[in-house]
Amino acid sequence: MSGTGEEGPEPGARAAQLAANLARVEQRIADACAGAGRDRKDVTLVVVTKTYPATDVRLLAGLGVREVAENRDQEAAQKAEETADLPLSWHFVGQLQTNKARSVVRYADHVHSVDRLRLVGALSSAATAAGRRVGCLVQVALDAGETAGAGGRGERGGVAPGAVPELADAIAAAPGLRLDGLMTVAPLAGAYAGQPRAAFDRLREISSRLRETHPAATMVSAGMSQDLDEAVAAGATHVRVGTAVLGVRPGLR
Ligand SMILES: *Cc1c(COP(=O)(O)O)cnc(C)c1O
Repeated sequence: MSGTGEEGPEPGARAAQLAANLARVEQRIADACAGAGRDRKDVTLVVVTKTYPATDVRLLAGLGVREVAENRDQEAAQKAEETADLPLSWHFVGQLQTNKARSVVRYADHVHSVDRLRLVGALSSAATAAGRRVGCLVQVALDAGETAGAGGRGERGGVAPGAVPELADAIAAAPGLRLDGLMTVAPLAGAYAGQPRAAFDRLREISSRLRETHPAATMVSAGMSQDLDEAVAAGATHVRVGTAVLGVRPGLR
């Protein structure tokens, strides 16, 4: 075991593993684009590095990855600091407490999980104080029911489709923020359970509606390791992929 250190596989072996995984994901994205008649460059791969160390982020950057995501502020802040020398763009994709807004705006270029007015206010104040402009996506909960108002929420965060316009307008009007688009996670419950393609088609419809009033809000963040193919077919512009690139995470996160 000489030279392997205590942090897992030898770096060359880990880099080779990540490269092989990335190539497989890249092929899936390319195939899905080809199948949907879409240009490959219209889909951005965002690699979700949660639970994996900053050394993996560094290896991924060496393999050409530029967009990375995290879902917990403390872990994200530390990794972003440890890799501050790299040309990376950080996406925050987890449920976010308002008291974490000040931390998140320091490193995040995009927050995918904006799902309530109070959070818009907190992010706006924090971004303004930090002299930053942060791109925000409204997280849409497709398990929250179509008609619910701002109070309708999903199991894994997000607002019901009916509450999207109000939140979008608030983000667009908030100093320090920019309305980038919409995000969803394929629901485990409700009418769309087990039907990711239908869920992503619905998100795309909501996005088209949104772009009538906010033409710059073009990001459609949908699709993870299991369902990125369906998401690309349905028009996603950003897929968020963890497991298929980094491996199965210990525990359910
Ligand atoms: C963890 C996570 C992902 C990535 O999931 P995988 O199944 O590992 O690809 C995508 N989006 C969000 C919001 C996540 O929390």
